[in-house]
Amino acid sequence: MEERTEIASLGEFGLIDHLTANNEIRNSSTILSIGDDAAVIDHFGRQTVISTDLLLEGIHFDLSYTPLKHLGYKAVVVNLSDIYAMNAIPTQIVLSIGFSNRFSVEALDEFYEGVYTACDKYNVDLVGGDTSTSLRGFVISITAIGEVEPDSFVKRSGAKPNDLICVSGELGGSFLGLTILEREKKIFEETGSQPDLEGQAYNVGRLLKPEARKDIIEYFAEAEIIPTSMLDISDGLSSDLLHICKQSNTGCVLYEDKLPMNDDMKDFAYKLQLDPTACALSGGEDYELLFTVPQSDYEKIRLNPGISIIGYMTEFAEGKNIITRGGNKHELVAQGWNHAKNK
Ligand code: ADP
Ligand code: MG
Repeated sequence: MEERTEIASLGEFGLIDHLTANNEIRNSSTILSIGDDAAVIDHFGRQTVISTDLLLEGIHFDLSYTPLKHLGYKAVVVNLSDIYAMNAIPTQIVLSIGFSNRFSVEALDEFYEGVYTACDKYNVDLVGGDTSTSLRGFVISITAIGEVEPDSFVKRSGAKPNDLICVSGELGGSFLGLTILEREKKIFEETGSQPDLEGQAYNVGRLLKPEARKDIIEYFAEAEIIPTSMLDISDGLSSDLLHICKQSNTGCVLYEDKLPMNDDMKDFAYKLQLDPTACALSGGEDYELLFTVPQSDYEKIRLNPGISIIGYMTEFAEGKNIITRGGNKHELVAQGWNHAKNK
C-alpha cells in the first residue's frame, strides 16, 4: 500500500517547513522569502504587476481526473499567464492552500512537485503563502507578481481600428479535453469501465498541462513589438475578443479560415458532432495570448510561426463580425457567433 503520513503528525509549522524545505530562489529581486511575516521584493525602478486567482475543488477542478502534480503545475501557470498578458515578466508567487483531513502529506507533496516544476520552468520564486485546514474540498489561492519596464505594460483598452488581431498557438483543445474527461467520468460512474483516452493526448494535455506563453513575450522584446492591447484567453476567443473591443471601443472582423486549429482537435470535434470552429471560438482555458498590433508590425508578426493573424479591428460602428469559410458575415457573440443573423 502507498505510504500515508497524516498531516497532523507534522503540525502546521512542520508541514510548511516540509513543503518549502527545498524551495529555491532564482531572482535577485527576491530580497526576503519564506520564513518571516512577509516577503520583501526589490523593484529596481521597474513597475510591479500583480494578479491573483482562487481555485476551488468542484468548481475549477475535479480531482477524480486531475492528478495533483498537474493541478499544482496548472495553478501556477494560469497565474503566470495573466502576468505575461500584461507584457510583464513574472518573478514571484505566493501560494495559499486549504485542505481537509482527506489529504495526506504525500498528496500535498505531489501538488508541490507540480508547483516547483512550474516555478523552475518559468523562473519564478515561491516567496510565501498560507496554510489552513478546510471543512470540505481543496482550496488554492495564488498571487503572482511580475515586473515590467515603466509604462510598457499592455492593457485591454489600447486597440485601434485597422490593428491586426493576432493569437498565439492553437485554440479549442482544452475544451475538448474537458469534454472527453467529463464523458469518461460519467461512463465510469455508470458502468465502472475504465476511461478510453486512446489518441487523446493532445486534447487532454491542453486541459491538464497548459503552458503560459513566455516565449511570445520574449519575442515581443526581441522584435521590439509592443501590442496595442492584449489578454490571455481563459473564457474563449470570441468572449475575450469582445472584452478587447468593449474596452478599446472598437469593432472587429475575424476570419473563420484563419483560426489556428490542431488536427487532433478537429478530428475529435467531428467525432462528437461538434463544430471545430465553435470549439475554437468558445472553448475556454486555452491560455493563449490574444493581442492587437499596428499594421506596420505585420512583417515582424509574420516571422513568428507561433502567431496567427486572424482578423483586424474596425471602427465601433462597424460592429463585431466573423467572416465564415463560405464568405458570409455573421455577428460575433460570446458563445461563438449568431447563426440566426443573415438567414
Ligand atoms: P503567519 O502566522 O505570519 O501567517 P505562517 O506561519 O502562516 O505565518 O507562515 C510562515 C511562513 O511560511 C511565511 O513566510 C509564509 O509566507 C510561509 N508559508 C505558509 N504557508 C505556506 C505555503 N503553503 N506555501 C508556501 N509558503 C508558505
Ligand atoms: Mg499564516
